[in-house]
Amino acid sequence: MPRPIRASIDLEALRHNYLLARAKAGSARAFAVVKANAYGHGLDRAVRALGPLADGFALLDLAEAWALRQAGLTQPIALLEGFFEPADLPVIAELGLTPVIHSEAQLAMLERAGLETSIDVMLKVNSGMNRLGFNRTTFDAALARLRVLACVGQITLMTHFARADDEEGIGAQMAMFKSLAGGLGHPLSLANSAALLRFPEATGELVRPGIMLYGGSPMPDMYSAEDLGLMPVMTLGSEIIAVQALAAGDRVGYGGTFEADGPMRIGIVACGYADGYPRHASTGTPILVGGRRTRTLGRVSMDMLACDLTHLEEAGVGSPVILWGNGLPADEVAAAAGTISYELFCALASRVPVTVLGD
Ligand SMILES: *Cc1c(COP(=O)(O)O)cnc(C)c1O
Repeated sequence: MPRPIRASIDLEALRHNYLLARAKAGSARAFAVVKANAYGHGLDRAVRALGPLADGFALLDLAEAWALRQAGLTQPIALLEGFFEPADLPVIAELGLTPVIHSEAQLAMLERAGLETSIDVMLKVNSGMNRLGFNRTTFDAALARLRVLACVGQITLMTHFARADDEEGIGAQMAMFKSLAGGLGHPLSLANSAALLRFPEATGELVRPGIMLYGGSPMPDMYSAEDLGLMPVMTLGSEIIAVQALAAGDRVGYGGTFEADGPMRIGIVACGYADGYPRHASTGTPILVGGRRTRTLGRVSMDMLACDLTHLEEAGVGSPVILWGNGLPADEVAAAAGTISYELFCALASRVPVTVLGD
């Protein structure tokens, strides 16, 4: 029998979440962000599941875009970091991809490429995140240079928010973006998941939801995924493979960081950090055993972790465990590990077998 750990990916939930994003987007198009292997959910299966529902897709890697075109995908595909060398450009043109142009170096490559087919592009404004894009002093000239290029079709103006998910919000970045990009007659693309859900004024003509498609809340401190109407797509499950009886003073796991203060029964789960479970999840992280909520104990090992069965008399070897997903939001587990659901999903290890639901 294989080790009992398994991830299930619910494609119905993915479609549900995409349709919710699309409904929020109103008349704007919604490109499903499927970078990082669809946030760990599997690029091919995510794209196949969304199929013709999606207005388009966004990712980073040219080879991935190539594979999607080979598989027959016809919708627009945006490349969120654009291209990296001149040789990428003929491929982009042939595949009909939509690269982001965020730097002087990319502009220069495009000007020298001599493309015969025209490509749509997204010109990126650095409105305050200070990662990628043209700023107050460089934007106008960059746009003018794109406009005169015969090989450039539609130019969408885009930016990305740093704090759409917190109390700061998007006000300052919106003002900066509008001052540069507003009223020029180009379509605008601003919103990630958090902005799409919180700030209708940031919808523009094209939105770029990512985490919400996978059922993670983009702002778990304000709203749970359930509050937002999102369904979990990935459920990570395993089983109890051993049970130990502890007496007061007994310790659990590496470093002995958890000490029993009285008699306890604990379960050992076949799931560890080499499966993608966060090692920084400390004692007390929620976990479901036989559908009931309990807590993890001690340090997470490479292949195992421990949980408290003291009050779960019926639980024992073979009891089903849910690490996150159905019945236990990944956002809660992430918070207990000092991270965000994005990181848990992306870190799902390749050794974990996947079951696909709703194919
Ligand atoms: C990753 C990414 C998104 C999606 O962000 P979420 O917070 O997952 O919705 C949107 N736009 C850009 C440019 C991105 O890099």
